[in-house]
Amino acid sequence: MISRLLVALNNRLTRWRRPRVAPANLLVLLPRCLQEPSCERNVGADVANCRRCGRCRCGDILDLADAVGFQVQIATGGKQAVAAARRQEVRAIVSVACATELIMGIVMVFPKPVLAVLLNPTETPCRGTGVDVERVREATRFILEGEDHGNQA
Ligand code: SF4
Ligand code: SF4
Repeated sequence: MISRLLVALNNRLTRWRRPRVAPANLLVLLPRCLQEPSCERNVGADVANCRRCGRCRCGDILDLADAVGFQVQIATGGKQAVAAARRQEVRAIVSVACATELIMGIVMVFPKPVLAVLLNPTETPCRGTGVDVERVREATRFILEGEDHGNQA
């Protein structure tokens, strides 16, 4: 699929640019579909509302953020995601989403560097999706520390 190829191309270009930012200037953007569908916590308004219960990967990524110091936002839509990424203090982004959303976001926030991490395939696309947290971890480490373990997020 063309959008997946474009995501891979973007990631190659971003890695070639070798962005380096402080943790406070790195934003990890998560989509609303990553939240467990039965969860009633309003994590889109504030990620602190997540009680990290383990039923979806949002809590795992928030644990990683606490350990490393980057920002996390769970976007309820594309406009909110773009607005968050355009904030002045955000200098690099690790974005988790489906390929179509990723490409739109990458274009909208250009020239800010974005490493894109694809959601795991699901039968119901906009609901109860998942992500490999290791890929998110690797992408953040690449931007913060320059560590490339060959995992092309
Ligand atoms: S980890 Fe638990 S509390 Fe947090 S968003 Fe997922 S289901 Fe809700
Ligand atoms: S599957 Fe894609 S379009 Fe649907 S909510 Fe998730 S990121 Fe957004």
